[in-house]
Parts: sequence; structure tokens; C-alpha cells
Amino acid sequence: MSSLPKDQTYMQPTHKLLAIPGPIEVTDEVLRAVAQPPVSHVSPQFVGVFRDCLNMTRQVVDTRTGQPFIIAGSGTLGWDQVASNLVEPGESVLVLHTGYFGDGFKDCLRTYGAQVDELRGELGVPVNLHAIEKALKTKKYKAITVTHVDTSTGVLSNVKAIAHIVRQVSPETLVVLDGVCSVASEEIRMDAWGIDVVLTASQKGLGAPPGLSILIASQRAIKTFETRVAPVPSYYSNWKKWLPIMRAYGNNTPAYFGTPPVNLIQAYHASLTQITTSSPSLQERFRIHQQVSQRVKAIASQLGLKQVPKDSANAANGMTALYLPDGIAASDIVPRLAAKGVVIAGGLLGDIKNKYIRIGHMGTSAVNAERGDIETITNCLQESLEEAKAERDARLSSAKVSVVTEV
Ligand SMILES: *Cc1c(COP(=O)(O)O)cnc(C)c1O
Repeated sequence: MSSLPKDQTYMQPTHKLLAIPGPIEVTDEVLRAVAQPPVSHVSPQFVGVFRDCLNMTRQVVDTRTGQPFIIAGSGTLGWDQVASNLVEPGESVLVLHTGYFGDGFKDCLRTYGAQVDELRGELGVPVNLHAIEKALKTKKYKAITVTHVDTSTGVLSNVKAIAHIVRQVSPETLVVLDGVCSVASEEIRMDAWGIDVVLTASQKGLGAPPGLSILIASQRAIKTFETRVAPVPSYYSNWKKWLPIMRAYGNNTPAYFGTPPVNLIQAYHASLTQITTSSPSLQERFRIHQQVSQRVKAIASQLGLKQVPKDSANAANGMTALYLPDGIAASDIVPRLAAKGVVIAGGLLGDIKNKYIRIGHMGTSAVNAERGDIETITNCLQESLEEAKAERDARLSSAKVSVVTEV
């Protein structure tokens, strides 16, 4: 059901092309939804919109029985939901670390009293599957967390294979997927692969503005929550508060705990409608993300840029992380693209922060080829690199000249 008057046209003002790994460009339909007068969160109209959002959220991660939670907050709130509702103080969690966001999840889990062990992939490499199997055989873990795409490195983890190992070796362990940078740009089969939690946010592959924490819990995870012994050490993220609300809206009935951000929910609804009901289909959407990603990575390689992920089989399809040539810093390249109207991101990982850049190609920028976003991004990247190289070379040769003259 669409709640928006169809006769209204809305065109976005001209703006710089947002090509970072979230937030991303949004469609006119999504932005038009944000610009509506707020409606009552208990009106029949809004209740229907919220119920549709719950249902379409299930479709995107391919679950029939998963329970979605849609709550005002950023993706980070998903970590708090997991750490406070599913893990009891003192229980052990295994965190798979493929970059910056593994550190964040670990920190959050510890905040609520979890005992955290960590397995790290070397930079640009996912965590070794044998190491995961070994760790699960050595100790009993309440949960294992996987960052599907670590946005700091562009490393894609093989969540299907990891979930398979967990189910074989330690079937009680909850499989928790941080899908903030993967939902709707990478295939996820929550039920078929045996994933217990997918947590994400509105502003990356899901193509809405930032502001929604979106989490889907398996019935196994819900049961784990319902049978926990220790009280939930949180107020706002407590599922005791939210579960009845989500169930009520799911049954087309309003309920209240904290006013939902009605305009953002409408925007999310508009984006989900495009993702799940219009062309391309969801499967097609994943395939297009792969094709676009391969194109961006091939062009980058022609420009002489190396990817941060060491093996292209483990590289994300919604973003690309690229090392810059010697003598050229991210702080030199990023502003050059911005001056040409394209916003990309610098590095996020401490050690190599200024040595690499990150480009987002998710959602409408990837799927709606007629926008020409990918060409705009790659052309501006090429021009900016040429400029930066020319300046670097001029700098080097003038340095040489000055050395010569000093002699
Ligand atoms: C962006 C991101 C987050 C954090 O989401 P926020 O909306 O910024 O709170 C967490 N995990 C991953 C993998 C991300 O890409």
C-alpha cells in the first residue's frame, strides 16, 4: 500500500553525488516521502505502512518467520540490541574481525558485560574458516558475530559458509550478522543459511536517509531472549518494550513505546517498495550490484589502483576500497573529487587511513544506470588521479632541482 498522493512530483535540488559507503543517494520517491506532513503514529494509515515495512524487511533478507525490529536510531543501535537482549553478563561471544566495525561490536558487547574473544583476519582478508571451526570446538559461545561487509576495508565475509560451520560444530551458538553495509546489496538468505540476527540501518543498501536501526531476529533468537535469566541491562533497546510493539504493528494494530520517526518510516517504505516490488527484482538487484562492482574494480585496476581486499572473491559488491599510488594521499584525492561534484570517502582504518579511499556504489546509483552515476564517479576519479600525479611529479622534480642547485 502506498500512502503518498501520486500527483505530487518532487525533484531533488542539484547536489554533489554522494558516493560514500553510506549514506547513499536516495530516489525522488524516497525523498518525497520524507517531505510529507507528519502523520499520527497510531493512525490506521501509518499502521498499515509500518506493517508493510515489517513484511518487506523480511523479504529483503529472505526470512518467513524472522521478527523485524524497526527503531529510531542508527545502525549502531543494532549492536546494543544484540548485546543487551541476547547475551547475558559473563557469557562468551566470538567476534570475527575484518576491520573497524568488528572493534565497535566488540566494544559494545563488553559494555553490557559479555566476555569477548576475537578472531582477526589479516588486513584485507576474511577470518579463516578452519580457525573459526577450531575456536567453536574449544569453547562454548553464546553467539558469534560476523561483519558481512566491513565498510572500513571492503572485505566481504562468507556468511553462508560460516553459518554452516556453526550449525555443524556448535548448533546452540547464535549467528549474528552485522549487515549494515550489505543488506539489499549482497544476497542474504536468513532462513536457508541459518542466521539468527541480521542487523542493519536505513542509509546504506536500503536507500533511505539515516535514522533507522533495522534488525531481524530468528524465532530461535526470540526464544533465547524470552528465556534469559538476567534482566536486560538497558531501557531504550530492551526488546521487552519493543517486541509487543512490533507484534502489534505486524497485526495491524497501533501500540506505543517511543514515537516512531513517521517520516523516515514512510521513506523506508518507499524504498522497500522499489526494492521488493518494482523492477529489477531482488535477485536481479544483487546481480546488478555484482556487475557494477566488477566494472568499478576493473576501471580502478586499469588506473593502477590496488584493492584493499587481497582476493576479489572476498571483495564487497556495494563498495570499493582502493590503495592510492605512492606519494598521493586520500586527503589529496577526496577534495579533488568533491570539487568535481563527487563525494567519496577517505580511509577509516588507523594504520593506513590516509593511504586509501572508499567508494560506495549501492542502491539507486548502482541499479538505475540511466543516472550515469558510475561513469561520473569513475571519470572524476581518473581526472583527479591524473591531476594529483602531475602535481606529485612536479613536486618531486622541483625537489630534485633544488637538491642539484644546492650542490
Ligand atoms: C555503517 C556501519 C555501522 C554503523 O552504522 P551507523 O548507522 O553509522 O551507526 C556498523 N557496521 C557496519 C558494517 C557499517 O558499515
